[in-house]
Amino acid sequence: MGQLSATVSALPHYPFAELARKKAAVEATGVRVIDLSIGDTVLPAPPAAVAALRETALDARHHHYSTYGGIAPLRRAIAAWMERRFAVTLDPDTEITALMGSKEGLFRFPQAVLNGGDGALFPDPGYPVYPLAIRHAGGEALPIPLSDACGFVPDLDAIPEQTRRRTKMIVVNFPANPTAMTAPEGFYGSLYDHARRYDWVVVSDAAYCEIYEHEPPSIALQYDPRRERTIEFFSFSKSYAMTGWRLGWVCGNADLVQALLKVKGLQDSAPFEPVQYAGIAALATDEAAMRETRRFYAANRKLMKTALGAAGIRFLDTSAGFYLWARTPDGSPCERFAQELLDRHGLLVTPGTAFGPNGEGWFRIAVSRSAAEITEAAERLRRAAP
Ligand code: PMP
Repeated sequence: MGQLSATVSALPHYPFAELARKKAAVEATGVRVIDLSIGDTVLPAPPAAVAALRETALDARHHHYSTYGGIAPLRRAIAAWMERRFAVTLDPDTEITALMGSKEGLFRFPQAVLNGGDGALFPDPGYPVYPLAIRHAGGEALPIPLSDACGFVPDLDAIPEQTRRRTKMIVVNFPANPTAMTAPEGFYGSLYDHARRYDWVVVSDAAYCEIYEHEPPSIALQYDPRRERTIEFFSFSKSYAMTGWRLGWVCGNADLVQALLKVKGLQDSAPFEPVQYAGIAALATDEAAMRETRRFYAANRKLMKTALGAAGIRFLDTSAGFYLWARTPDGSPCERFAQELLDRHGLLVTPGTAFGPNGEGWFRIAVSRSAAEITEAAERLRRAAP
């Protein structure tokens, strides 16, 4: 269509929209598809968040445009949570901003720092929004190839010197989507050695930081105590099963946070105030409830690992986040394998290439559905195994 801009015409469709279309096509033939493709969850949001939403929604004072950056009580609650969880002290007025889900912030942030042609490093495979956001901002998306060889962790020393020099920002994500890897010992130290030497902005995506089985994951911001160059993205979606509510936050270096807020201020307003009050309630969720949440994902992960093992499918033996990252049988093309799983067995998984070319030969399984669905999916996988 001639009227569309070159920028939008060049943008690919979001991979999950395409998967949803394929699923609908199979369901139209009467098959009940088990969808383990998307990182959504069957758990309910915290009851206290629902109660806060209901109560504040009944009060018309909360029906209007909210403060840009989010209401002060939410930013103060986030600051207190960051202090408790990570011993990171933040100024709620300048170093924290509420987001309508972390995706919008991650997409817009490159517009705040990149000039045309600036290089920006990102993990491949990784969350597909990173390279699209970089390109949309006019930057050059520079993939850091991840594979078995580097344990699916960015090998910063392997990045050519010339590339490091022309890099303005780097995106990191632990626990990772799609691989569920956590940052190994020494990774963040090395990241900041590089970031200081080459003057990189560090963009860290901690969306899955509360979903783990063993040690609570660290975040990049803990390694930048003076907050010289880091912006860290958080989401209510995974930690509190609030995917549909669209609430997240970003924190870190005040100039970076305020620059993002400037971009946002031109494109949206703050989240609906009752949703922000719900966020305050969610942040107060007690440890016992969080442990329950983690146990739920751990049990599903165990079920799925057992099924993959029985089917002779190799996978990364991870214990955080929502996903398992598995090898297609004989390393066959992942799109074909995923399509066959869907067509023949009614099981939807995400082909690895949805996360970048380096995802070829792999697929991602979400372990965030009900135990019954995971059990049935495990059975279908077993049947699909060669
Ligand atoms: N980061 C990662 C790594 C994700 O996987 C997702 C969603 N799946 C997001 C950010 C965005 O989450 P939300 O916009 O719901 O906060």
